[in-house]
Amino acid sequence: MRASAAVAVELEGVSHVYVNSRGAFPALEEISLQVAQGEFVSLIGPSGCGKTTLLSLISGLLTPTAGLVRVAGEPIEYPTSRVGYMLQQDYLFPWRTIYENASLGLELMGKLDSAAKELVLELLHDMGLSEFADRYPHQLSGGMRQRVALVRTLATEPDILLLDEPFSALDYQTKLQLEDLVAITLRMRNKTAILVTHDITEAIAMSDRIVVLQPNPGRIKAFVDVPAAIRETLPFQAREKPGFHDLFHKLWGFFHEMDVRGETANG
Ligand code: ADP
Ligand code: MG
Repeated sequence: MRASAAVAVELEGVSHVYVNSRGAFPALEEISLQVAQGEFVSLIGPSGCGKTTLLSLISGLLTPTAGLVRVAGEPIEYPTSRVGYMLQQDYLFPWRTIYENASLGLELMGKLDSAAKELVLELLHDMGLSEFADRYPHQLSGGMRQRVALVRTLATEPDILLLDEPFSALDYQTKLQLEDLVAITLRMRNKTAILVTHDITEAIAMSDRIVVLQPNPGRIKAFVDVPAAIRETLPFQAREKPGFHDLFHKLWGFFHEMDVRGETANG
């Protein structure tokens, strides 16, 4: 974490146990983590290690069984507009136009005034979607629909974005293009972001720092800083930078130690 920047997200000894009729399932144990304002952090780890649970705790959708989650210094107990959550599936409503989908969050919050409408149009423009504002989701490609979902998330002006595998349902070329677009958009607006991905190359290309989680129960295995030369380059070009492959092998090594070969076959 950059020492000078304010802390945007802080987890202190966070554990989470799911309880249902079949018993109690510890999903996360003793997670302590700080994310600085403007920092981009990726969470990687094998399936079931608690990545989505961690995002749900930060968003306030879940309350931890133990420990504390703070956003901008305040304990978080329920979802707030400070934190935007974008999922793998775009969840656009088929009967609403692109503009109506993009402005949905603002509408639900009762904040769709003329300034907010301007912002939605500006974001649609930045995402190359201006001419599709009056179309419907089924008329757009998967990558375009994810861009609409990103506009909807950004339109409520959250300080922190939680991105749960937002690119994983897209074809490889679209995913690479979208990585650059998202990186540019978030940097321009100095947003803090936490990305969950199963793609090691994506984590390296997009992040300032990577948190590796191990399963059963989910714990932090390692914090890995991404070298400046890679951080300062947009994701597509970052893959060509010296140091990229060394870092890939280091992270790959962690997965081997966890004995979950084949879980992350990308790159
Ligand atoms: P990831 O996103 O890393 O794949 P999750 O956070 O979805 O992991 O899940 C972590 C663990 O918690 C898994 O073992 C999963 O089966 C379990 N889990 C997730 N949601 C629930 C739930 N609602 N009830 C019980 N167990 C759950
Ligand atoms: Mg998940």
